[in-house]
Amino acid sequence: MKPAVFDYHAPTDLNEALDLLEDFGFDAKIMSGGQSLIPMMNMRLARPKVIIDISNISELNYIRVTDSSIQIGGMTRHYQVEESEEMKQICPLLPEGMKLIGHSQIRSRGTIGGSVAHADPTAELPVMLAALGATITLASPDGLRTVTTDEFFMTYLTTTIEMNEILVSVEIPLPSKRTGFAIDEFTLRKGDFGIVLAAASATLDDEGKIRAATLCLGGVDGVPVVLEEVTDGLIGKLPDDELIAECCHSIGELIDPEPDIHASAEYRKDLSITYAKRVLKLACKRASHQQD
Ligand SMILES: Cc1cc2nc3c(=O)[nH]c(=O)nc-3n(C[C@H](O)[C@H](O)[C@H](O)COP(=O)(O)OP(=O)(O)OC[C@H]3O[C@@H](n4cnc5c(N)ncnc54)[C@H](O)[C@@H]3O)c2cc1C
Repeated sequence: MKPAVFDYHAPTDLNEALDLLEDFGFDAKIMSGGQSLIPMMNMRLARPKVIIDISNISELNYIRVTDSSIQIGGMTRHYQVEESEEMKQICPLLPEGMKLIGHSQIRSRGTIGGSVAHADPTAELPVMLAALGATITLASPDGLRTVTTDEFFMTYLTTTIEMNEILVSVEIPLPSKRTGFAIDEFTLRKGDFGIVLAAASATLDDEGKIRAATLCLGGVDGVPVVLEEVTDGLIGKLPDDELIAECCHSIGELIDPEPDIHASAEYRKDLSITYAKRVLKLACKRASHQQD
């Protein structure tokens, strides 16, 4: 199927893109990698009158590491993060999670900004960003504003991004020493969106006890679900499979997934417990293998 007729603009700088967005308002759609937008247009689920293709805006394509954070531009493509040696060293969760996104063809076009703005609750990137305590920066003619993932994701495919805003970057606090990460998901076929996915981090102290931990689930609500109730129980304790199992046991009562054609609510709950345990154990194991 072919998309409905649209006008096409390809600005080469951010201000030009923001001006176009302001001019065309609700008639316009930003296109980054087109990996979600184009299929939706081909199926006529989206019929924007104007496409503003921001893929030529090179100022939005970067991975930068500062003393305190990792900053990734909105137009950075999935494969760039997946293949970044610096990311593999500093924040291996991101390259590991990128590999789970579709297939290499998708990752060669899909972008960080597009995946976050699209806000699919079973997409890997939003879940990883929530687990990492990331912030998201949006540009508009009024300037920049930065929000947490909690403030950004509202529900299925819906965010708090305004009509005149473009997602320009995400920022992740630099992980502490002795931090391990893990992400895993249950899919029906390799490369599919996950039915349930889980990402975790664990930081150990000098005695090998858990100093900090995060757990985020996808596919159990319209937004990524961070479960501090689970990880709070791990703090100050030595990593232990039984302890992790005990803390994850309550997940079924903490989430309220909806059934759909892929899985019942009960099955999603069971998967959540299994995958939460799996990623927390692996994150602790990876943290314990790290040198100071
Ligand atoms: C076969 C297939 C399998 C896939 N499997 C997976 C998977 O397993 N996991 C997964 O996470 N994704 C998957 N995807 C989606 C893929 O990751 C997309 O790349 C991603 O969802 C959207 O990124 P994009 O850059 O292509 O965005 P686009 O398609 O260009 O845009 C998506 C939406 O975001 C908006 N948008 C884009 N960029 C911005 C911006 N900078 N500011 C504001 N709004 C913006 C657009 O207007 C549009 O509404 C799959 C796609 C396909 C076709």
